[in-house]
Amino acid sequence: MLLRGHDCKPYCRGPLPVVGCCQCARPLAYGAPMPSQPPVIDLHTHSTCSDGTQSPADVVASAAAAGVTVLGLTDHDVIAGWAPAAAAGVERGITVVPGLELSTQAGGVSIHMLAYFVDPDHAELNALMATIRGHRDTRMQRTVELLAADGYPVDYDAIVDYVGQGVTLGRPHIADALVRTGTFGDRNAVFDEVLHGRSQYYVRHWAPEASDAVCIIKAAGGVAIMAHPFAHARGRTVSVSVIAGLVEVGMAGLEVHHRDHDAEAMQQAGALCAQWGLIATGSSDYHGAGKSNRLAEHTTDPVQFERMVAMGTGSSLMGAHR
Ligand code: AMP
Ligand code: ZN
Ligand code: FE
Ligand code: FE
Repeated sequence: MLLRGHDCKPYCRGPLPVVGCCQCARPLAYGAPMPSQPPVIDLHTHSTCSDGTQSPADVVASAAAAGVTVLGLTDHDVIAGWAPAAAAGVERGITVVPGLELSTQAGGVSIHMLAYFVDPDHAELNALMATIRGHRDTRMQRTVELLAADGYPVDYDAIVDYVGQGVTLGRPHIADALVRTGTFGDRNAVFDEVLHGRSQYYVRHWAPEASDAVCIIKAAGGVAIMAHPFAHARGRTVSVSVIAGLVEVGMAGLEVHHRDHDAEAMQQAGALCAQWGLIATGSSDYHGAGKSNRLAEHTTDPVQFERMVAMGTGSSLMGAHR
């Protein structure tokens, strides 16, 4: 199969289906160093552009060390990591899949919507990401106020100074601040004690309707895949009828294999994919040192990935291709 996009530029776009490099029509392939070796595909990771602890380039380097050959970078509500990840991908021989994880909801239940191959210049999608980041910002100020009022040594400006401008703010950044002061040992401990969803310090942030988000992802040429749909330990999950509604508006698949899914959840998600002809993915949700998730602990079947590549039209594979 021929693919558009290679190391002549970080990514290339266009209305054409994915058939060959839009620059030179050179035959391209993604993945493993040897054609005989199957690619190792991990499509859900986070960098310091959101709440991961490694820069996009370092995530790519870690992926290479872990044997991943096709890496999806899916920061929360931001795509700023694409270009540095693409450059590192060229250097390290890793194919980078452009993605993001949009914060959405249905009936007040949080849905993380993975979006791949969106047009990075799509105005409505960029406006949506900026709006969500703005609400995350306000929510962080409120959370920090509540914590500080009870004596926790956190300060909004200090956190923003530390993480830098343009980063999608999340609870893990508050956790890291409390780890830096020695108040807690690690992120997990902070979540367990004060940042979990039922905590008195938990503050919700606005998120778009998942169906609206899917429509915008589709309009941006992207492939929408619902992240960890049955991760019950994370909080409330949506019903199968809500998932059906999202499929009706164009959601393409479900993340089946994920550490927050127990055997029953994987079975249920896999069965829905089979029944409805959806794309089934599996990934690590790597956050660097921020979570114990290891790269490639779950991976995506190459056949399923091919379906995503064929469907996405807003952007193309980045990093290394042969
Ligand atoms: P937020 O999007 O700001 O609500 O924060 C949610 C993020 O926190 C998700 O990306 C999770 O991966 C992360 N998270 C949730 N629970 C934990 C935990 N126990 N330890 C570390 N990170 C967590
Ligand atoms: Zn995260
Ligand atoms: Fe998620
Ligand atoms: Fe994630």
